[in-house]
Amino acid sequence: MNKIEIPSDIAGPAPRHLTTQVMVGNVAVGGGAPIVVQSMTNTDTADIQGTIDQVAALSRAGSEMVRITVDRDEAAAAVPHIREALDKQGITTPLVGDFHYIGHKLLAEYPACAAALDKYRINPGNVGFKSKRDSQFADIIEIANKNNKAVRIGANWGSLDQELLTKLMDENALSPNPKDVRAVTREAMVQSALLSAARAQELGMPKNKMILSAKVSAVQDLIAVYQTLASRSDYAIHLGLTEAGMGSKGIVASSAALGILLQQGIGDTIRISLTPEPGGDRTLEVQVAQELLQTMGFRTFVPLVAACPGCGRTTSTTFQELARSIQDFIRIEMPTWKTQYPGVENLNVAVMGCIVNGPGESKHANIGISLPGTGESPAAPVFVDGEKFRTLRGPTIAADFKALVIDYIDQRYGKGSKTPEVVTAAE
Ligand code: SF4
Repeated sequence: MNKIEIPSDIAGPAPRHLTTQVMVGNVAVGGGAPIVVQSMTNTDTADIQGTIDQVAALSRAGSEMVRITVDRDEAAAAVPHIREALDKQGITTPLVGDFHYIGHKLLAEYPACAAALDKYRINPGNVGFKSKRDSQFADIIEIANKNNKAVRIGANWGSLDQELLTKLMDENALSPNPKDVRAVTREAMVQSALLSAARAQELGMPKNKMILSAKVSAVQDLIAVYQTLASRSDYAIHLGLTEAGMGSKGIVASSAALGILLQQGIGDTIRISLTPEPGGDRTLEVQVAQELLQTMGFRTFVPLVAACPGCGRTTSTTFQELARSIQDFIRIEMPTWKTQYPGVENLNVAVMGCIVNGPGESKHANIGISLPGTGESPAAPVFVDGEKFRTLRGPTIAADFKALVIDYIDQRYGKGSKTPEVVTAAE
C-alpha cells in the first residue's frame, strides 16, 4: 500500500499582502498591523444621544472604528458633540464620517466636524458629477490634508462612477477581443478606486493617509475585484461585501467572500454589512467580524465555545441551553474580563452532547463537559486541560459547570495566576 505523505505546510493563510500603514486616530490599519474590525451605525447622526449610545455599544462589542453617516447640516453639527460625549465616557474609538454628494460642503462649513472625525469616507462615484467632480473631490482632500486626517476612497458597485464605466465600455466595444459586461464593470470598480487615489496623491495626500475599498454585493465579483486591486497597488485595503443581506444569508455570503480574500493575505480592515432584523442588535456585525477573524486564526477576541450540533443521541435541551448560556455569559463578561484576566480570549471551552465525541473534544479544550446522551447514565464528566476532573450530576449541572469555568478563568488568568487548582484537585 502506498504511503500517504502529509505536507507540513498544508495549513495556514498566504503571507499578508504588504500594504502601506495608515493611522486612523489611534488605530493602525495595514502594513502588517492586526486586521481591524469596524462597523457602522444606523442611527440618524443628528440624533446625538441615539448615536452616542450605538457607537458606545459597537465599541464595547469590540468595534475598533465606527463609521457614522454625515448626510446633512444637522448631522455634521452633531458630530463634535458625539465625539465629546464619547471621550467623556472614555471611549476613544475613532469615528469615520460617511459622505456622499455634499461631503465637500459639509466639511467646509462645519470645521468642528472635520476636526472631530478621524477619517472621511469618499465615494468616487458620487463625490460630484461632470465638471464639479474634480473640484469637489479636491476640496475634501484639501480639508483632510489640513486636518491631518485619513480618507477611505470607497468605490461601490451600486454607485459606480458612470463616466468611467461608459468610457471603459466604449473602449471594450472597439477591442478585437471584447470582455463581457461583468468583467468590464469589475475593471471599472478597480480603476475608480485607483484613479481617485492617484488624484489624491497629486493633490498632496500621502499614501499613508489612504485606504481603498471596492465593494460589490456578489461573492465571486468581490473576490475578483479585490484580487485585482491588491495586485495593482499597496494601498491599505478595507474589505467588505456590500448589501450582504439579513441573517444567515448575510453572514454566510460575507464570510465566504472575506474568508477567501483574507486567506490569500488580502485585507487590512473588515466590516460585515449585515441588515439587522427589525429591532435587532446592531452589534451582531461586530460579533460576526470577530468570529470570522478568530475562527480563521488571524486574531483572538473572546474565548471560543466548541459545541457539537446535537443529534438523535442528545437527550434533552440541557445541552443546547448550556452551550447558549456559556456563550452568552462569555460575551457579556468579556469587556470586564479583558482588563481583569489578560489572555482570557485564548480560552477554549467545549460543551458536548454525548459520549461519542464528548470526552475527546472536551480533552482538547481548556475546560469541557460531556453531557449524557440517550441511554447513558445521568452523569456529565468535566475535563480540565486534557484530564478528567470531576463528574457532575443532578439538576444543577449547568450552574455547576459555569462555576467551574469561572474558577478556571480566575485561577488561570487572574492576578497571581497559576496552574488551576481544579487540575491538581482532579478526581
Ligand atoms: S457528540 Fe454525541 S450528541 Fe453530539 S453530535 Fe456527536 S453523537 Fe450527537
